[in-house]
Amino acid sequence: MQDHYDLIAIGAGSGGLSVVERAARHGARCAVVEKGPLGGTCVNVGCVPKKVMWYAAETAHRLEDAPGYGFRLAREGFDWTALVTKRDAYIADINAWYRTYLGDSGVDLIQGTARFVAERTLEVDGRRVTADHVVIAVGGRPTVPDLPGAELGITSDGFFALQAQPRRVAVVGAGYIAVELAGMLQALGSEVSMYLRGETLLRSFDAMLRDTLMEQMLAAGVNLFPRTRVSRLIAHPDSVELRCDQGECRGVFDQVIWAIGRTPVTAGLDLAVAGVSQDEQGFIPTDAFQNTNVAGVYAIGDVTGRAALTPVAIAAGRRLADRLFGGLSDRHLSYENIPSVVFSHPPIGTVGLTEDEARATHGSAVKVYATRFTSMYHAMTDHKVPTAMKLVTVGAREKVVGVHIIGPGADEMLQGFAVAVRMGATKQDLDDTVALHPTSAEELVTLR
Ligand SMILES: Cc1cc2nc3c(=O)[nH]c(=O)nc-3n(C[C@H](O)[C@H](O)[C@H](O)COP(=O)(O)OP(=O)(O)OC[C@H]3O[C@@H](n4cnc5c(N)ncnc54)[C@H](O)[C@@H]3O)c2cc1C
Repeated sequence: MQDHYDLIAIGAGSGGLSVVERAARHGARCAVVEKGPLGGTCVNVGCVPKKVMWYAAETAHRLEDAPGYGFRLAREGFDWTALVTKRDAYIADINAWYRTYLGDSGVDLIQGTARFVAERTLEVDGRRVTADHVVIAVGGRPTVPDLPGAELGITSDGFFALQAQPRRVAVVGAGYIAVELAGMLQALGSEVSMYLRGETLLRSFDAMLRDTLMEQMLAAGVNLFPRTRVSRLIAHPDSVELRCDQGECRGVFDQVIWAIGRTPVTAGLDLAVAGVSQDEQGFIPTDAFQNTNVAGVYAIGDVTGRAALTPVAIAAGRRLADRLFGGLSDRHLSYENIPSVVFSHPPIGTVGLTEDEARATHGSAVKVYATRFTSMYHAMTDHKVPTAMKLVTVGAREKVVGVHIIGPGADEMLQGFAVAVRMGATKQDLDDTVALHPTSAEELVTLR
């Protein structure tokens, strides 16, 4: 291993791995510093284990639906420990795959915790390394509130470490991680209560998605406590008591899960030594090209505080490498029209402006097309799940500026529509597209 590189990334998560791999492909000498398992949040305590648990929860829903299709099944229960063991083995395989992938890409892996000792000089557990370009890709961690007894609760990290299924669970939070954890636990048989500070779940999403999801979660048996402010947790011999100083809430649970947001992992980096600025929440501001305020130092992914999603971190990393080493001097990520999915039950897919955002910007030029129906799959099942869709269009040409879907299959449906929105599709373009039948997706090209 050498002591000077063309590029060093701090953090081998989605962003760090993608920037070094692409830079190495362009011929740069690269290293990545990682203090934990390879793959970062997404692989170890985020998207991957989450999606495995969501598939398990979807399977539970399918088993409920099976009698509607003529199956007579005897359920013998659900083995949480068996699932978690298999899931963790799958993740260990991904960790190992990344190690091989780095080796094959010619990237040096430096294991340890990095901190700045000068502008582009890092110290990793006593060893000094320098680079022409340093990319900060240290991600975030779950936020724990500063409340009496907060340590009695767990976070999403703790959720993925659970070896046994908790029976009574409180989820504190209203964002997508809170919604996903609550939905999975409920489907797998836990009794779930959600405590939200505001009126609704998923505050920044289109109202149609929020309302349909809340209605569906209530129908599934989740207890929702809006307008509550949790004030303390109290330990009991086999449980945790939750108290509020606003709203009606006092409950006893096997687990309380904090899902109230994420904090950037910048504390031990000594950013001030390198002169790298942070905002008041600790995120590292960047310009459109991922440059920080210090030349040769960049930030990508969750630590920038923008669109905290894996494909965003990957896209920013690859484009940065293309710009620095691939001769594409203008290459950068546009943060507009980033699609996202919520793995709720049913799932949500969304891209572009919400109806409220569009109306605030474009006023009466906005025209909305919406529908709500029960998909054909649920024609046969006792348990009905709604599907709702909305197209938000602007101007005389009815350019589609927002697509919002909740319902079975929304997660897989959205990707193609995100391409259409990015390309500037109009309502007429959707109308001119021949439908796929019988599907739920066809409703999006036949809306009146
Ligand atoms: C529960 C959950 C579910 C999610 N689900 C989805 C999803 O379905 N889809 C989606 O797109 N996104 C999802 N995300 C978000 C996604 O995981 C993140 O956006 C993504 O991982 C960000 O990548 P990153 O490279 O910025 O940071 P990370 O992946 O967090 O990687 C940062 C890495 O830096 C390392 N590090 C930190 N400090 C140092 C240091 N000083 N020295 C050395 N190493 C250091 C850390 O150990 C870590 O490995 C989810 C997140 C959570 C928490």
